[in-house]
Amino acid sequence: MNIEQKIKQTIQKYKLCNKKEKILVALSGGKDSTVTAYLLKKFGYRIEGFHIDLGMGKYSEKCLSAVKKFCRDLKIKLHIYDIKKEMGSSMCYLRSAIQSKKSLKNCAICGVIKKWILNREARKLKADKIATGHNLDDEAQTFLMNIFKGSPELSANSGAITRNISDSKFIPRIKPLFYILENDVREYSQDEKLPVVYEKCPCALDSYRIQVREFLNTLSRKNRINIIKNFDKVSKRIQKDKNIKIKYCEICREPSRNEICKKCELMKT
Ligand code: SF4
Ligand SMILES: [Zn+2]
Repeated sequence: MNIEQKIKQTIQKYKLCNKKEKILVALSGGKDSTVTAYLLKKFGYRIEGFHIDLGMGKYSEKCLSAVKKFCRDLKIKLHIYDIKKEMGSSMCYLRSAIQSKKSLKNCAICGVIKKWILNREARKLKADKIATGHNLDDEAQTFLMNIFKGSPELSANSGAITRNISDSKFIPRIKPLFYILENDVREYSQDEKLPVVYEKCPCALDSYRIQVREFLNTLSRKNRINIIKNFDKVSKRIQKDKNIKIKYCEICREPSRNEICKKCELMKT
C-alpha cells in the first residue's frame, strides 16, 4: 500500500473527518504538515491553512515563505498568526522569560503555547477539526518517552484523533500521518516537489527526545511500526478518563483540565 492509500485508510478507519467539515491544517513550513495539507486537499477535503509565525529569525522567515508559496500554488486560504503582534514578543523571548522562572525544555513551552493558539484561533475561524502533521516516528517517540517516565497513561488520550474530550470550546485534533514513517513522508514530499523547509528548527534542543529519536532510528521499519501497533492496544486499556471533564481556565476562559490552563500557568508571573 502506498502512502496515499494508507492515509485514506487511516481517515476512514478512525473517522478523522468528512467532506462537509472545515479542517484547519496547522502548517509549519516543514514536510509533515505540508504533506498533510497536500493530501487532504487532493482527497477533496475542505481545508484552510494556519501558520504561526514564531518570529525566530531567518528560520521563521523561510518557513513563512514556504507556507505562502504552497498555499498560493494550491489555492488554499491561509491564515497567519504573527506571535510578535498578537502576544507582544517572539517565541524566543517568551520562552526565555518563562525559563528564567521555570526549568522547562524549549519544545515543552513552545508546544503548549502553539496548542493554545491553535485551538482558540480554529474556534474563531469556525473550524470543525484541526489537522497536524505528526507522523509515526513522532508518535513512537512520545509514547516511548512516556513509558520511560513511568507514565504510559499520558499517551492514553492521544491517537490519530483526540479521544474522549467533548466540549464545544475544544476543537478535535486529527493526525492523518499517524501511521506513516517519517522517511516515507520525506520521500513523498521530495517526489511531489513540495516547497518545504527541511532544516530542523534551531530551537529543538530537547536532548532527551533527540536521544530517544536516535534510538528509534536504530530500529527496523517493522519494529517502529510495531511500537505504534502496541500503542493502539495499550491506549484503549489504560484510558482512565472515559469522558474527560473540561473546565474553563480562570484567566483566559479556554478549555482546560485544571482551574488554570497550561499556557496561563506558564505565563503567570
Ligand atoms: S521544534 Fe520545538 S521549539 Fe521548534 S517550533 Fe517545534 S516545538 Fe517549537
Ligand atoms: Zn488560560
